[in-house]
Amino acid sequence: MAFSDIAFRALQDVLGEENATNDPVVCQAYSRVQWLPPGVLQRERCGLDMRPACVVMPGSTEEVQAIIKLANRYKFPFIPRGSGFTFSAFPTKAGTIVIDPKRMNRILELNEQDMYAVIEPYVSFVGLQADAMKVGLTIPTPLAGAHVSCLANYSWHGAYGNSWLTGIGAQNLLGFELVLPTGDVVRSGSMACPEAGNFWNDGPGPDLRGFLRGGMFGHAGGMGMVTKISCKLWQWPGPAVWPTKGNANMKTSSGFSQDQFRWYMIKFPGKYPEEEEKQLKKAAELFYEMGKAEIACVATHLAKQFLYTYSSQTKQDLFDNMEKNVFPQGFVVVGLQASTSLRQLEYEEKVLKELVAKVGGIFVQEDEPAYQVWIGRAANEWLRFGNAQRLARPSDNFSIGTSNVDSIDMIVFDIMEGNKVARDLLEGPKHLGKDFVQPLSVHGGWISPQEYGYWCLMTTDVFPDQAPEQAKEAIEIIGNITRKQIENKSSAAVIHLLGPAYDMLGPMFGNVHLIIKKFKNEFDPYNLSNPGYATRPDVVSPEELQKMAGGH
Ligand SMILES: Cc1cc2nc3c(=O)[nH]c(=O)nc-3n(C[C@H](O)[C@H](O)[C@H](O)COP(=O)(O)OP(=O)(O)OC[C@H]3O[C@@H](n4cnc5c(N)ncnc54)[C@H](O)[C@@H]3O)c2cc1C
Repeated sequence: MAFSDIAFRALQDVLGEENATNDPVVCQAYSRVQWLPPGVLQRERCGLDMRPACVVMPGSTEEVQAIIKLANRYKFPFIPRGSGFTFSAFPTKAGTIVIDPKRMNRILELNEQDMYAVIEPYVSFVGLQADAMKVGLTIPTPLAGAHVSCLANYSWHGAYGNSWLTGIGAQNLLGFELVLPTGDVVRSGSMACPEAGNFWNDGPGPDLRGFLRGGMFGHAGGMGMVTKISCKLWQWPGPAVWPTKGNANMKTSSGFSQDQFRWYMIKFPGKYPEEEEKQLKKAAELFYEMGKAEIACVATHLAKQFLYTYSSQTKQDLFDNMEKNVFPQGFVVVGLQASTSLRQLEYEEKVLKELVAKVGGIFVQEDEPAYQVWIGRAANEWLRFGNAQRLARPSDNFSIGTSNVDSIDMIVFDIMEGNKVARDLLEGPKHLGKDFVQPLSVHGGWISPQEYGYWCLMTTDVFPDQAPEQAKEAIEIIGNITRKQIENKSSAAVIHLLGPAYDMLGPMFGNVHLIIKKFKNEFDPYNLSNPGYATRPDVVSPEELQKMAGGH
């Protein structure tokens, strides 16, 4: 059923005229071009249908409930969103409304003693972090940028610069309040028990985080709207105010005292591509050793291409740095922080030096261009990302090429397999990716070990132009690598458990799609909560499934 005038008036009744609009100009602003390839294709496919029929701005949980109950009465789809940074926050069909949480932007509690905060949907990472730092605490932030909604990211999944210490979003979530697609409210963790406080996830009270998270990346707005979360805070040894120099693209965070933080780059030189595997295995060995020693706040391996993109202040700067071969290969980056004392920091430095020597790594020296460009301009970002726009600078379109979660060893294997596929496609008859502004990332990948190496996350990136043809090429590359991952029975498949992928990959994971569909049927019987991205309630027929997988 189309979004009706009567539904619009009903929304205005409960929210006030100023908080519900169908003005085409305002609505168009909620359908802007996405800089991810799926977003580019989505826009090409949906055209004006990407423009929501209406945008609403609730100010409370009760108003969110009222909106969702109206959606059920008048049968219009709705999309809860945060800052709208990723493609699943945009309509895929006409008549959809977007719930913009801008009026729900309060930090409700910041508990210094028990190290947690309770926040509403529009609190950004940077907003919460700035308040937390004043009392010696912090939160991790995603490469997406610290401006995005902390609640949306934590509920969605979330991967961070210092995940080596903090793990992913799901592990930082303590409790939540969720308005189900029926309009009922459910609470998880101690938040669910009146007067119990907001401090804990496992109880007292039910732990329903799995319900919110879905397969791996959450329901992408497909299971109602989260209106409140409680999340962990972490120790912060740095200054109460984050130091920065310059502004916009030229901005660099700087000025941490050497008594508080120290950064290191480590290389494992070798011939490319013959010795790529050896290099990555050495990096893995270093991570395992560091994990055993329980040192560092940041430990990550960055692909050559990523290093260029994220450290370049202008497009020209990027090309100049590539020409000068500033980053001849991927590097390991390590950050140490004085969590308890300078003595502890110095102890960790000593241990790091021994471990790097043990695995045969070489510290990049301060006078080397790689050190100057990366450490000088980008290293501190790993504690708070403020330059996500740099990722899209080469081509105004950036995408994760492949991703996976597994042990560090398996991640290295998976990156190698994916890189081989990418190289073959580049050199093959179609020369896929040949015209991308930034060549395909085949020098390692982003290896992000979590929680002292207990497990690991990885991505490799592609940088097509915003043109639909190049976006299609990028998706063909991604599709080929993903097929290889599935063939290898890689756990990467679990990452793709979203939307139609539930139907395609669910059978590989104990038929998880059937469980999720049961939830969907129970709690969203009319399939109104972000229907384009959550799994559908019905079981897909074998013929349709074959089509989804690229067959006819
Ligand atoms: C350049 C780039 C880099 C990125 N790097 C990272 C990274 O390093 N780590 C990482 O974790 N992510 C990364 N991402 C993806 C990332 O998850 C999002 O960009 C970010 O977390 C989205 O936050 P947002 O506030 O913009 O949410 P939105 O884009 O608005 O929403 C994201 C999804 O969550 C749903 N949602 C939003 N709010 C709610 C709510 N209150 N209740 C229920 N569902 C809701 C939406 O429907 C949507 O499906 C990156 C994205 C880009 C474009």
